[in-house]
Amino acid sequence: MKYYSTRDTKRTHGITSSLAIINGIAPDGGLYMPESIPHLSSEALEELLPMSYAQRAASILSMYLTDYEPAVLKDIAEKSYSDNFFGYPAPVERIRDGLYSLELWHGPTCAFKDMALQIMPRLLSHALKINGTKHGTLILVPTSGDTGKAALEGYKDIEGMRIMVFYPEQGVSAVQKLQMATQEGDNVSVVAIKGNFDDAQTGVKHIFADPAVREELNKSGWKLSSANSINWGRLVPQIVYYVSAYLDMVRDSVLKMGDEIDVTVPTGNFGNILAAYVASQMGLPIGRLVCASNKNNILTDFINTGKYDRNRPFYTTMSPSMDILISSNLERLLFVLAGAERTAEYMTQLSNFGRYEAQAQVRSLIRQSFSASYCDEEETASTIKEIFEKDGYLCDTHTAVAVHSALRHMKDKPMLVCSTASAYKFAADVLGGLKSEKYGGDELDAPALLEAYTGVPVPTPLKGLASRPVRFKQTVETRDMADTVLSFCKK
Ligand SMILES: *Cc1c(COP(=O)(O)O)cnc(C)c1O
Repeated sequence: MKYYSTRDTKRTHGITSSLAIINGIAPDGGLYMPESIPHLSSEALEELLPMSYAQRAASILSMYLTDYEPAVLKDIAEKSYSDNFFGYPAPVERIRDGLYSLELWHGPTCAFKDMALQIMPRLLSHALKINGTKHGTLILVPTSGDTGKAALEGYKDIEGMRIMVFYPEQGVSAVQKLQMATQEGDNVSVVAIKGNFDDAQTGVKHIFADPAVREELNKSGWKLSSANSINWGRLVPQIVYYVSAYLDMVRDSVLKMGDEIDVTVPTGNFGNILAAYVASQMGLPIGRLVCASNKNNILTDFINTGKYDRNRPFYTTMSPSMDILISSNLERLLFVLAGAERTAEYMTQLSNFGRYEAQAQVRSLIRQSFSASYCDEEETASTIKEIFEKDGYLCDTHTAVAVHSALRHMKDKPMLVCSTASAYKFAADVLGGLKSEKYGGDELDAPALLEAYTGVPVPTPLKGLASRPVRFKQTVETRDMADTVLSFCKK
């Protein structure tokens, strides 16, 4: 199976899946997509039914990553989804009749990024082997909190790789900062920068674009790579949990094989919901896909009106992983529905004017599969309270945004909501929601208070965080980021 850029109108530059994973982004600025979406027949679904999560993952990955040996994928999947997760990797929990939660936060960092970032480093490492690469790979990650920690956990102690994460000194929560500062592993480094997330991101982009830095790194045997969510190697593992959740619902007699479900996804960069869309295109019986946003509701507007316009205020919310105005993976949906030529046009307009408008035909195709709505801060807080008090289900701020939309769009089919983080990662805001008043205490005390209030235990990976040794304390000016990277590679 070959991979093409979403902007490659002539389909002349097909590459293997392993190269798509190594390259991350295509040279023309587009994203890689497989030449076609493989079909998952009902017989194939039956075959997957009795399998473990790792076996299901290996089987679905092998439909896309065709230049990897199936046995290698099996080995990689077994290693990626084992006791690094606490319990089953992606369990489906009943919230109430007809409403189910797909919990994607049983990994080492308690957020859904683990589902992809626990396996992606191994896929990349093997891709380098397939392509006979000799140099070491240096991963640079700018982060606003969640991605950095998940990438550190994924890349730690992977042979031939090092990872350096930059986070804004003032821009992450106390829990997130401590999670990163106490990171274990011999090939990792974590650095705070004086600036905000955009400064971190711009700083990393400059390092990637600086030929002198690349040359210097080359001399010491390193090449740069990113752990960005536009990489196909992050997307394909996300297809797996939709298939797996469906099968688990069949196994538990919530569904009969072939029955449709609707799915609601709390959306930021459009990666998670795109994976659900791809699963539906493979043949998984999904009815509607509900795209849930917070107050940054650019996607709600796009899905409802066809107009994408980033010229609007940016809000900082209690669901920070969805605070985003450019949803990169939307490009993949546009490509599937409108083709490479139109996608390239839309993306040019987006970069020149910050907006584009989809043609009526594309708009109606989008609305055939997607619905969208959003929820503000008060509604997020009151949903946390309502779902806990009525249903006894504790959810984090991102999941609450999704539950709010799910309740609005629920019809006659079972609704599956993606739960993307443990409530304990956002304990202060969750506690505030439950008690209907803003939590004013020390952020690091909030998890214990939340546990006492709800009786829901703190997840294993977050236990005892405050007593772990702090390894990383360095803060640098943004202009010194390149030097910091170079000195990390000389060690
Ligand atoms: C990253 C993230 C999201 C958004 O997912 P996308 O794939 O970017 O749409 C939602 N919730 C949490 C907790 C996240 O970390």
